[in-house]
Amino acid sequence: MPNKILSASLLYPSRAGATRLCAPSSLEARNFPREKVDRFDGFSTPGWRTFLPRLSRFSGTGILPENNLPALYERLGVLAGRPDVCVESLGNVKAMPIHLLRMPATGAGTKKNILICAGVHGNEPSGVSAVFELISEIQAKPHLRENFNFYILPCVNPYGFKTVSRRNENDVDLNRAFAASGQENEPEIDVVKPFFEKTSFDLVLDLHSALPKRDGYFVLHRSTLQLLGPAMENFGKAWPVLSNGSKPYQEEAPGICTSAPKGTLKDYLADQGCPHVITLEAPRALAFNERTKGLSRLAGSIIDEFAAQNKAIDSH
Ligand SMILES: [Zn+2]
Repeated sequence: MPNKILSASLLYPSRAGATRLCAPSSLEARNFPREKVDRFDGFSTPGWRTFLPRLSRFSGTGILPENNLPALYERLGVLAGRPDVCVESLGNVKAMPIHLLRMPATGAGTKKNILICAGVHGNEPSGVSAVFELISEIQAKPHLRENFNFYILPCVNPYGFKTVSRRNENDVDLNRAFAASGQENEPEIDVVKPFFEKTSFDLVLDLHSALPKRDGYFVLHRSTLQLLGPAMENFGKAWPVLSNGSKPYQEEAPGICTSAPKGTLKDYLADQGCPHVITLEAPRALAFNERTKGLSRLAGSIIDEFAAQNKAIDSH
């Protein structure tokens, strides 16, 4: 069993032999050159205005702030104190841990495994923040807690998250480096791959955000329309779904697209045999809090549909 008690050194790794007992200052996290960032780009598309009244309710709701590594560690520390979540480190990259959260199923019998990843691209922090919204949603739904083991990687690329960079410190896009056979793996991939290889997942969600030109949420998938069609339809009742073009992706249905395999985490796990691997894309044209809430809801909507369809299968 993973260590339930998250030590200070696990959350705040030591430097030069000194153990940190408190979070590094947020100034330290910001003391890096910033590149194009996943943040509010304005409501450039008229279609957004129809959603504004409903979305404004999310301002100032305690959402994990963007690209704030100390705040991320603090939030993980709070979760580690809960009886239903185990927080552990899979390993460090440059003294920054890559955390794994486990929420084991509470019911008896065979369980399915759901993996949620975020922060593969460090300049897309809405995914990292959405993880914590999603955990709250899962905790509030006993039927999900009973029937599924949840595995959560809240921040796969902590260096990128800290420095507001899409890429890691080696200037490599991790979401193009997962299937690089014959080449040396990137350090972050070396940390997470052993965990991926020893666990089989029934559903994988990888949280990202897309360019501001996208006018709604969408998914890139190695899954089925049977699962994603109802999930996206449900989500679209309250949130904007991509409607202004999906190129270079192939659109199968509103907000549901496929992409050519390019060494992504999605394609790596699908090739490993996971039947449903889905990349979720939030539109950067939305303000951060709204973008985060919508991303969490889209993930929740897919999980709800997956749970409903599995229940239907079980009762046959
Ligand atoms: Zn991304």
